[in-house]
Amino acid sequence: MNLFNLRRNTAALESSVTEPAPVEPQGLSSACLMPSVERPLQQFVRGQGSWLWDSTGRAYLDFTQGGAVNSLGHSPNVLVKALASQAQALINPGAGFHHRGLLRLSNLLCERTGSDQAYLLNSGSEACEGAIKLARKWGQLHRNGAYRIITASQSCHGRSFGALSASGKAEFEALFEPKLPGFCKVPFNDLPALHAAVDSRTVAIMLEPIQGAAGVIPATAHYLKGVERLCRELGILLILDEVQTGVGRCGALLAEETYGVRADIVTLGKGLGGGVPLAALLARGSACCSEPGELDGSHHGNALMSAAGLAVLQTVLEPGFIDHVQDAGRHMRDGLSRLSGRYQQGEVRGQGLLWGLNLADDSAAEVVGAALQEGLLLNAPQPDCLRFSPALTVSKGNIDEMLLRLARAFARVRTAQLQRSLD
Ligand SMILES: *Cc1c(COP(=O)(O)O)cnc(C)c1O
Repeated sequence: MNLFNLRRNTAALESSVTEPAPVEPQGLSSACLMPSVERPLQQFVRGQGSWLWDSTGRAYLDFTQGGAVNSLGHSPNVLVKALASQAQALINPGAGFHHRGLLRLSNLLCERTGSDQAYLLNSGSEACEGAIKLARKWGQLHRNGAYRIITASQSCHGRSFGALSASGKAEFEALFEPKLPGFCKVPFNDLPALHAAVDSRTVAIMLEPIQGAAGVIPATAHYLKGVERLCRELGILLILDEVQTGVGRCGALLAEETYGVRADIVTLGKGLGGGVPLAALLARGSACCSEPGELDGSHHGNALMSAAGLAVLQTVLEPGFIDHVQDAGRHMRDGLSRLSGRYQQGEVRGQGLLWGLNLADDSAAEVVGAALQEGLLLNAPQPDCLRFSPALTVSKGNIDEMLLRLARAFARVRTAQLQRSLD
């Protein structure tokens, strides 16, 4: 689609964005969908950069991007081209064979993150499973069979069984018991609690540098440095789950760089594929202990996804790209802080282009609904918190437009709250 059409459609549709748009499901029923996430009625048909269009032609400014998945926005040229030409040439030679994309992406990942080995997989959960396997293997080799992994309360490492068991999310607690044993959860940003939890069976500490699902809660520098020191002193592994924070999201290739910390194992996912399912497990030094037969998967390192990952990574590594993330991130932080002050909301937290805004009450789901009516897509990781994870290529103009729409969403919710209090 050319720029003229994009502008025309956007302008035409923005005039109608204040009206709620009940979308006809167009004869397609959702009754056969197994219940999972709750979805609004809209059916999305097209995306470009920071914009999405539904089947009625209405435009939405997307500040969630699939939960930080579409790192370069919707259908970026570089990704479309890489996928198209790779699909023409070779989609999947099979996980048992070498191909150029696998080698090029793995090499580039290792070179630019200072890792010794990389393994490509399909999802963040799977990468975290891989990290758990590596740590347990390492415990057998180097620490008398130690297998316990300490993780943080409120953490989220994914929904597969091991990742679910590793997670400290309260909502997971009662699900699917009994879970995989061997995990111990301690409060985040609390060094003494971590210290007290380590015993001779402990093999690793696994953390998100910024807890995303918990409401964008950054580790303090004091904490993460202290965790690294503790791991070195005790001779256990540091695993950083950078599925959400990695690949430029926090204004550096890895968030660990911004803390001056180096993990033994790093997991990547979400933004790495730019919208297609791709994740990576990175290992350094003695954590490189995997042997054939331990991590395999049918789609692992598939040529189509590798081509996507390479296109995304090369783009993020281009001169000036990370500078833009930092610059746009400061612009967004300042704007959110002003808005928060104006509407008596709470703290703004985050880094790069991953931000959370605490609300004064548990109205986050209502604000997300009101924002949808204003043509703005947001996410509420907690009842009192909004999360912003726009395309890393987002313009300051679109950030300003987001702030306008968010202000209108706040106003809508205030009016509804007032109405309810009068009823
Ligand atoms: C999203 C996420 C995961 C899980 O990734 P999936 O691709 O959804 O399986 C794991 N860890 C973190 C920190 C995440 O944000």
